[in-house]
Amino acid sequence: MKRAYKLRAYPTRPQAGRAVRLLADHCDLYNAALQERREAWRMRNLGISYGDQSAQLRQIRAADPDGQGRHSFTAQQQTLRRLNVVFAAYFKRVRETEKGRQHAGSKGEHSKQRKVGYPRCKPYQRFDQVLFVAGDAASWEPADVGRWAHVGFQAVGRVKVRQHRPVVGWVKTLQPRRESRRWYVIVVTETEPVLLPTTGRSVGIDVGVMRFLTTSDGEVVANLRFLDSAQERIADLQRRKQRARPGSGNRRRLRRALAKEWRKVRDQRRDFHHKTARGLVDNYDTIALEQLRVAAMTASAAGTVEDPGRNVAAKAGLNRSILDAGWAQFTSILVAKAESAGRRVVLVHPAHTSIDCHACGARCGRPRQDTVVCPVHGDLDADLNGARNIASRAGLGSGQASVA
Ligand SMILES: [Zn+2]
Repeated sequence: MKRAYKLRAYPTRPQAGRAVRLLADHCDLYNAALQERREAWRMRNLGISYGDQSAQLRQIRAADPDGQGRHSFTAQQQTLRRLNVVFAAYFKRVRETEKGRQHAGSKGEHSKQRKVGYPRCKPYQRFDQVLFVAGDAASWEPADVGRWAHVGFQAVGRVKVRQHRPVVGWVKTLQPRRESRRWYVIVVTETEPVLLPTTGRSVGIDVGVMRFLTTSDGEVVANLRFLDSAQERIADLQRRKQRARPGSGNRRRLRRALAKEWRKVRDQRRDFHHKTARGLVDNYDTIALEQLRVAAMTASAAGTVEDPGRNVAAKAGLNRSILDAGWAQFTSILVAKAESAGRRVVLVHPAHTSIDCHACGARCGRPRQDTVVCPVHGDLDADLNGARNIASRAGLGSGQASVA
C-alpha cells in the first residue's frame, strides 16, 4: 500500500541553486537518452531498451566526474526508467491508432484521430522532478507535525521541509520537485492496510459535469463552488496574458499569477477529493464507478491542462479541463483509500449507463441533460439512473443499497 505526501521544502539560496543544477543534469541525461533512441532508430532501425541505456551509465559517469558523476546512480536509473515509461506509452498509442485506422473505414468516426507525436526533448524549465530511492543518496528525517523535517539529497544538501501532516509508513522514495518558484518534496511511503469494519453496503457512483457525483442511494455531491470563481479569474488572466507583450514584465507577472491560480485550484480540488473519497470509503464495502475519462484524459494531456492558453481558448474548454483533471484524480484517490481500508472499487464499462432505464433496461430518451425518459417508467433523474446502472453492472444487485 503506497501513500504519497507532498510537502513544501525551503532550500537555502545555495541549496536551491544546486537543486536547479540537479534537475538540469538529469534533464540532460533524459534528453541524451532520448536522442540516442531516436538516432538509433533513424539510422539503424534499432530499438534501444532501458537495460541498454542503464548499462552505459557507468561510463557516462566516469567520463563526466564534475557533472553526471556527482549524482546518485540509482536516481539516474530512475530518470532513464521515466523515459522508458514515456516510450512505452508512445508505442501503446501508436498501436491503438493503427487499430483505430483499421476500423475507421467502416465507422468513419475515427477520422479526427490525433497524430501520435514522437517523445520530445524536455526543456530545462519543464523538467521538474527527480526520483531518489530513500536511503540511497537521499534521506528523510521526520518531525512532529508543524515542525521542520529535513530531507537530504546528494549534490544538494540537507533541506528544511514543513511537515504539515504526519508521514505514515516506511519511506520508499523521495522526490525533489519544483513548481514555478516553489520547492516541494514528494515522500512516498509503504504502509500496511488498516482494514475498516464491513458495513454490508455497496454503492454505484455517477460522476458528472453539473454535479460532482450522484450515488445509487440518491445522494448528491455538488461541485465545489470555488471552481466557478476560479474559472472566471483564470479565463480573465489568460486573456490579459495573451494581450500582454511577449517578454514584458507585465506578461511575466500575469504568468505567475496564473500559475498561482492553478495551484489554488489544484490544492482545493485535491482536498475536496480526499474528503469525498473518505466519506464513501467509510460508508461502503464496494464502490462501483465508470471507467471513464481515461481516454478523454489522455487526449487532453496532449494539450496541457495546466497551461491551456494556446490549446483551450473557449471557456467551456477551460471548465472541462478543470473538471477532467478532477475525475482521474478522484478515481485514483478513491482507489488508494479503498485499498488501504480493505474496500473494493469496481470500474465498469461506461457505454449507455446514463441512457438505459435501470429498472427495465429500455433505451430512454433524453430531452434534457438532467432527465431521461423511459417508455415504461417515465421521467428519471439521469445521474441517479446512471449510478444505479453502474451498480448493477458491477454486480451489486439493483443498485439500491442493500441493508445488511
Ligand atoms: Zn424503465
